[in-house]
Amino acid sequence: PTCLMWFRQDLRVNDNPALRAACDEGKIIPVFILDSTAPEQYQPGGASRWWLHHSLQSLNERLNNHLLVFKGDAERLLPQLMNELGASCVFWNRCYEPWQIQRDQRLKQSLREHGFKAQSFNGSLLWEPMAINKADGSPYKVFTPYYRKGCLNAAPPRYPLAAPARITYGQTENSGSALDSLGLIPAIRWYQTMGAIWNPGEEGAASRLKTFIEDAALNYKQARDKPGLQGTSRLSPHLHFGEISPNQIWYAIKDAFGDTDNQHIDCFMSELGWREFSYYLLYHFQELPECNFNRKFDGFPWRYDNAHLKAWQRGQTGVPIVDAGMRELWQTGYMHNRVRMIVGSYLVKNLLIDWRQGARWFWDCLLDADLASNSASWQWVAGSGADAAPYFRIFNPILQGEKFDKQGEYVRHYCPELAELPDKYIHQPWQAPEPILQQAGVELGKTYPQPLVDLKASRQRALDAFVSIKGN
Ligand code: FAD
Repeated sequence: PTCLMWFRQDLRVNDNPALRAACDEGKIIPVFILDSTAPEQYQPGGASRWWLHHSLQSLNERLNNHLLVFKGDAERLLPQLMNELGASCVFWNRCYEPWQIQRDQRLKQSLREHGFKAQSFNGSLLWEPMAINKADGSPYKVFTPYYRKGCLNAAPPRYPLAAPARITYGQTENSGSALDSLGLIPAIRWYQTMGAIWNPGEEGAASRLKTFIEDAALNYKQARDKPGLQGTSRLSPHLHFGEISPNQIWYAIKDAFGDTDNQHIDCFMSELGWREFSYYLLYHFQELPECNFNRKFDGFPWRYDNAHLKAWQRGQTGVPIVDAGMRELWQTGYMHNRVRMIVGSYLVKNLLIDWRQGARWFWDCLLDADLASNSASWQWVAGSGADAAPYFRIFNPILQGEKFDKQGEYVRHYCPELAELPDKYIHQPWQAPEPILQQAGVELGKTYPQPLVDLKASRQRALDAFVSIKGN
C-alpha cells in the first residue's frame, strides 16, 4: 500500500513516529500543505514564513526531492490527493492549536468513513496534555505541581526513534507546487541578517544541540539570564517547526550528563517543561491566545496609544535594555528570554498597553513564534495568566539591565549610538551629566530618544490601574 505522510510541525526524518509508521506500511508520498484556513491572525508571521521556506527546502533535500507541497485547505485537499495518488492511508503527527485539533478530528473521521486508514501520533511533546491530570481529573493550573507531580511521575517520554532504515517512495504524477510558489520569501530582503545567524532544518537543529551540550549546558543556570552571552540553546525555532523533537533533546542531555542531580541540567529540563506546560494550557484553555486566563483582567483599563506602541516596536522607547531587545528581535528574529520578559513588562505595565498587542508583534517578528508558548508567556508577563508573576511585581528595566547586562555589552551591540557611554550610564543615559554625554557623542532626543515615559510615574500608574480591577 501507499501511505501519505502529511508533514506539519515535524519537519524531520529522525524521531518522527508518523513517518516511521508510514514507512512500515510500504511506499510513502510525503506532502506538506501550507494551510490557508488558519485564522487570519495566526497565519505564520513574516519571520516564521522565512524559516518555513528554508526548513521545507532542507526536508525536501533529505527526502531526495520527493516532498510535494501545496497551498490551501488541507481538509479538502487531502482526500482529493489520496484518491489521485492511489494512497490507502495517511499518517501525521498531532498539532495542538485549537483549529488544528478540530480540523484533524473531522478529517480523520471522514477519511475513515471513506475507507481510508488515518492515524495520528505524538511527535512534538514529551507528555501530551490529555495524559497529565490532577488526582481529581481536572487540569493543573500551576507549573511546579504540573511538572514535578504530573509529568515527572508519569511514564517517561518516548526514547527517540531512529530515522526509517529505508524510505521507498510511491509513484506520483501530481508533483505539487514548487516550493517558491508558496510565496514564503518576502519581496523585501529584510532577512539577510537572519540567514547569516540561523540554519533552519534538521541538520542545523542537531548542530545547535551539540554546541549547547559541549559549550553551554553545564553553565546554563547562571548564563541563561545574561543576554550578552550565548548561554542558552537557541533551539526554539527548530523545536517549533519540529526539526528536532523534545525527546531527542531530553535524551541527548541525559546521555551526555547522566541521571545525577545537576542544577544546570535540571534547570534546562524544566525549561523544556515550560514548553510542555504552555501546550498543556493551550489544550485545556483554548481561548488562551485571546482571552485573559484570569478573567479579572477583562476589566483592565488598557491604554490605546499607537505612538507609544510604535516606539516600542521600533526600539525607540529611550530605555536602552528595552530598545536593545526590540532591535534584537527585528534584526535577528529572536530575543533573549530575560529581555522578552523585560520588554513585555515595559509594554504592559509602564506603557499600559494590552498584552495582546505585544503578542501580535512577537507573532510577526519571532522565528520561534509559537501559539502556545507566545500566548502563555505573554499572559505570564501581564499577570493575567496561569501561575503568572503577580501584576504588582513590576520590573525596573534599569535594575534589570544593571543586573543581567552589567557591562552593557548587549545594549552596546544593539544600540550602537550609546556604545561610548560609561557602564554607569549605559542603562540610564538620561542621568549622565552633559559633558559625559557629549564625550560619548550622545545627544538625547536626537541621536537617542528621551525616555518615552517616566519609569517611576508609569509604575505608579500601573499599580493604580491594577487596584481598579482588584475588587472585581
Ligand atoms: P533555552 O533556554 O535554551 O530553553 C530550551 C527550550 O525550552 C526552548 O527552546 C523552548 O522551547 C523552551 N522554553 C524555554 N523557556 C520557555 C518558556 N518560558 N516558555 C515556554 N518554553 C520555553 N518561546 C517560543 O518558543 N515561542 C514563542 O513564541 C515565545 N514567546 C515568548 C513571549 C514572551 C513575552 C516571553 C517572556 C517568552 C516567550 N517564549 C517563547 C519563551 C522563551 O523566551 C523562548 O522559548 C526562549 O527564549 C528560546 O530560547 P532558547 O531556545 O535559547 O531557550
